[in-house]
Amino acid sequence: MSIRIGNSCINCENLSTNKLCKVHGVKVATNYTCDSFNMKAALKNDPNCGNCARYETTTCANPQKATPGMLCSHWAPQNAQA
Ligand code: SF4
Ligand code: SF4
Repeated sequence: MSIRIGNSCINCENLSTNKLCKVHGVKVATNYTCDSFNMKAALKNDPNCGNCARYETTTCANPQKATPGMLCSHWAPQNAQA
């Protein structure tokens, strides 16, 4: 399996409160993942610089052009709980 920055429990739709996984019924850590990973809908439906973890950081691939609403292939989800 290839490693992707977004495929962790913290960006998974199945993560509920208290770090409990709805699929497995156990506590998980934010750096875990599994084959049931399901990207949060908010991240899946509207990826853009405004919700990119790289925005205004040294890891942004296009720091001169990055602006909310724009998107590039280096987009990465934020560690958002919402
Ligand atoms: S389904 Fe997998 S990736 Fe999602 S919260 Fe549970 S253990 Fe983590
Ligand atoms: S330009 Fe790409 S890497 Fe930079 S913030 Fe926008 S989506 Fe992220």
